Amino acid sequence: MTENNIPTVYNPREVEGKWYRHWESSKYFHAEVEKDKTPFCIVMPPPNVTGQLHMGHALDNTLQDILTRWRRMQGYNALWVPGTDHAGIATQAKVEEQLAKEGLSKYDLGREKFLERVWQWKEQYGSRITTQLRHLGASCDWDRERFTMDEGCSKAVLEVFVRLYDQGLIYRDYYITNWCPHCQTTISDIEVEHLDKPGQLYYIKYPAKDNPEEFIMIATTRPETMLGDVAVAVNPEDDRYLHLVGKTLVLPIVGRELPVIADAYCDPTFGTGAVKMTPAHDPNDFEIGRRHSLPEVVVIDKYGKMNENAGKYQGLDRWECRKQIVRDLEAMGALVKVEDMSHAVGHCYRCSTAIEPMLSKQWFVRMKPLAEPAIEAAKDGRITFIPERFTKIYLNWMENIRDWCISRQLWWGHRIPVYYCRDCDETVASVTPVSGCGKCGGAMEQDPMCWTPGSPRPCGPFPPWAGLTRPPSWNIFTPPRCWLPAATLFSSGWPA
Ligand SMILES: [Zn+2]
Ligand SMILES: [Zn+2]
Repeated sequence: MTENNIPTVYNPREVEGKWYRHWESSKYFHAEVEKDKTPFCIVMPPPNVTGQLHMGHALDNTLQDILTRWRRMQGYNALWVPGTDHAGIATQAKVEEQLAKEGLSKYDLGREKFLERVWQWKEQYGSRITTQLRHLGASCDWDRERFTMDEGCSKAVLEVFVRLYDQGLIYRDYYITNWCPHCQTTISDIEVEHLDKPGQLYYIKYPAKDNPEEFIMIATTRPETMLGDVAVAVNPEDDRYLHLVGKTLVLPIVGRELPVIADAYCDPTFGTGAVKMTPAHDPNDFEIGRRHSLPEVVVIDKYGKMNENAGKYQGLDRWECRKQIVRDLEAMGALVKVEDMSHAVGHCYRCSTAIEPMLSKQWFVRMKPLAEPAIEAAKDGRITFIPERFTKIYLNWMENIRDWCISRQLWWGHRIPVYYCRDCDETVASVTPVSGCGKCGGAMEQDPMCWTPGSPRPCGPFPPWAGLTRPPSWNIFTPPRCWLPAATLFSSGWPA
């Protein structure tokens, strides 16, 4: 460039790349331990390896860059550690998309071959976001770049799991997930396609126990699930039903007694405003059920057929059962009307089978004991929030924190380091693979799920009965939990 051909507009493309390469090759941002210097260190919250930088990243990383450069210039031993997150769901979905174009699924490849493909994807596309960080001029130490699935991070993650498990802070319990009765697998929320389907809304009378003249009308699209009903919920501000809250209804056909509970989730303007609670087969009912410590009665098995809790309907396919229930309700005069409607039904993205929400065993972190020291630290002033009003929000979150579901039905990620014996009850958590059972010498099998270290999100209240049992079986469906004594499952309580 001479004084005659200076461009009229600054073009960063021609300039910035050269300087970043110079900074990086000269290792200006590299830090080593130096005992006589005060350290200043930031670990970059790792962006998803599948992602690309957006304005939020640009702001967040610029702030970290300013702080790091400022301290570096002040003579601190400054280190900014960059890295990327393996982004379990997103990355697995990308690779599955790629496979689908070849007419393949992850099941055709099997777990090991599939993971090889994911690693290939990561090698090929995983550098986009770190290239963008370089474009931003981020002064990180690239010699120390980490990936959440690399050896060191993985070892730390397994170690943390095993420690929490051994301290009784990680346990396995039932949680509602999407089950495909055809593929015989749990699938993640993003693998569920919601398709608008014509259906029917059935209006059913649930009579009061002490006054059969009085009843609550329930509107449902899935009458077959009523066999798993354990309560009826209404909005606490819905005047139509307030006098019935705390009273008992009788479930038609089954005769089971159902308490009427009040929960703000119920929308008084939707349907009849009263919702039947089937915690084992509906994700919203499941959440409400846990809030009110309701029992969970599984009535549909993993093949989509009615199970032993469905009484005389046992063995029927769920759709067959629906027809039969409707006929029976009609015969007993409990069916008031049927309306045609179109509604969104979740379908398996691979085989288009209607998804069955189902209880299955998942992994949880017990949050209360972990939250207590964190609450203390904020209360005694060791941690201060700026601005101050966030202290209240933080305390409110921590004081009401619920146990955290950490398992994911994924192959890409840190696999749960728990091994089950196929022949006895032995269950072991271990950082290193376990092949033989210490108790009986039988073959051990590793839990198929991944877990997701990260920040806990509210995902279910503290189950009052958590910790009563830790199901030993490797099979996530045995035995189905039923917290009602068998005798109360069916009775002839239907009022005459
Ligand atoms: Zn399927
Ligand atoms: Zn064994």
